[in-house]
Amino acid sequence: MSERPSWQHFQEQLREAGFRPSRRFGQNFLLDENMLEAIARDARITPGQTVLEVGPGLGFLTRHLLECGAHLVCAEIDERLLEIARSWIEGPEWVHGDVLAGKHRLAPAVAAALPAHSDWQLVSNLPYSVAAPLLGVLADLEHPPSGMTVLVQREVAERIAGRPGSSDWGLLSIVLQCDYTAELVRHVPPQLFWPRPEVDSSVVRLVRKPDPLPRALRTELIELCARLFQRRRQTLGRVLGEIRGREAALSSLAALGWEPSRRAEELDLRELLDLCKRPIPPPA
Ligand code: SAM
Repeated sequence: MSERPSWQHFQEQLREAGFRPSRRFGQNFLLDENMLEAIARDARITPGQTVLEVGPGLGFLTRHLLECGAHLVCAEIDERLLEIARSWIEGPEWVHGDVLAGKHRLAPAVAAALPAHSDWQLVSNLPYSVAAPLLGVLADLEHPPSGMTVLVQREVAERIAGRPGSSDWGLLSIVLQCDYTAELVRHVPPQLFWPRPEVDSSVVRLVRKPDPLPRALRTELIELCARLFQRRRQTLGRVLGEIRGREAALSSLAALGWEPSRRAEELDLRELLDLCKRPIPPPA
């Protein structure tokens, strides 16, 4: 692998470009080579596999992904960073612009660069503002990634990998765990970044399940959970009553053998699916 130029070299280039890190774009660069190498390894890239990297920044993680044999597509919003990364890294397909077109759609230029039939992955140190919407959008694609290995704010990583009954278990956990297994892989302390973020960060790895949900059922489940988890601490009898009508709600819960005093936050994915599949009985 080619040597990475010194940090001083990059600092000069950033100064010349008039760059000041933007909080809005989550511009905290991970400098530690051992940690970057570990994250690339966590993704278990197979040689030739397409990898989407969102926000390559100066190209520090990019270099390690190439070393793993990835065919890289890199989408970066900041043209000055893109120029610097391009000046020392060869190989990726570079896309300049926002990775998302609005909150619920991948930018067309990024979508066009992804394979329609072969396996691909997302591996990124994600900006905070993009993390949750991007992961949701990718999981919902017609040809979704087989894996997503991302460095995100620790609190977001804990929500992604949240378990039923915990305060982390919520809509983001469900949207992703419908079709992916989620595992917290490692914590990354703030002192390994420039500038130093005010929060802790963690790597989370998502692996697509062999039996993802049918799309229509997935959509229905997410819609139901969006409403249930808005008032996660209220009883199901009450919240479901407002969604389906009181009689229908009580009858669904009775058919499942559940007390109306149960709460959405206690239910695991299987139970949420059971509730979702429960037909709404006709009015008596
Ligand atoms: N990959 C680099 C690293 O590990 O040091 C930089 C990661 S930094 C946390 C996030 C990067 O995402 C920045 O380069 C930022 O400019 C870029 N970015 C922010 N919002 C973006 C968006 N909506 N689309 C594409 N890139 C974005």
